[in-house]
Amino acid sequence: MEANAKMYGDIQEVLIRREEIANAVKMLGDMITRDYEGKAPVMVCILKGASVFYVDLLREIDLPVTMEFMIVSSYGKGVASTGNVRIRKDLDYDISGRDVILVEDIVDTGLTLSFLKKMFIERGAQSVKIATLLDKPARRKVDLKADYYCFTVPDAFVVGYGLDYAERYRNLPDIGILKSEIYEKRSELELKTAF
Ligand code: 5GP
Repeated sequence: MEANAKMYGDIQEVLIRREEIANAVKMLGDMITRDYEGKAPVMVCILKGASVFYVDLLREIDLPVTMEFMIVSSYGKGVASTGNVRIRKDLDYDISGRDVILVEDIVDTGLTLSFLKKMFIERGAQSVKIATLLDKPARRKVDLKADYYCFTVPDAFVVGYGLDYAERYRNLPDIGILKSEIYEKRSELELKTAF
């Protein structure tokens, strides 16, 4: 996709280009392959945001991995975390005794992943690690560190490579900061229609 495609008009600044993403994902895949040698981890994709990262990462891992998908929501349609984690689709199989890798798009407040990590430990996983594409440490509300991450991002709302705003921009090949007027415009509209 050309960098002047329509979607880029809503982007304030491209932060990470597709080539950099591909390199980082490859390095992460190699690292997981080394760390989990002799094991068969269950890779849990947290839909929908992690989907693009997940399918790219899996193909860089040379291990007999199992694919699992979960849908959780903590944001609704806005840009601020509510802190309420709701499981809308659970795993298909039991993970007790298994090595689990939770694959997420971004760790922001950390609320979603600390909730999920605790839940997987309670379900009897042998180990639970977190692999995230992006880490936004500035807004952390709980003491949670990603075991694997590709990039650290500033305190801004980013979209692209799976990350959305109101279900849009997931198919942007690069990662960029969304212009604030896009979500401010929408909030005004929502306020007007709510009253
Ligand atoms: P946390 O529970 O760590 O606050 O939030 C995790 C979820 O919030 C992520 O999986 C993602 O869906 C959403 N999120 C947090 N920051 C951003 C951001 O900058 N852009 C987008 N598109 N989603 C975000």
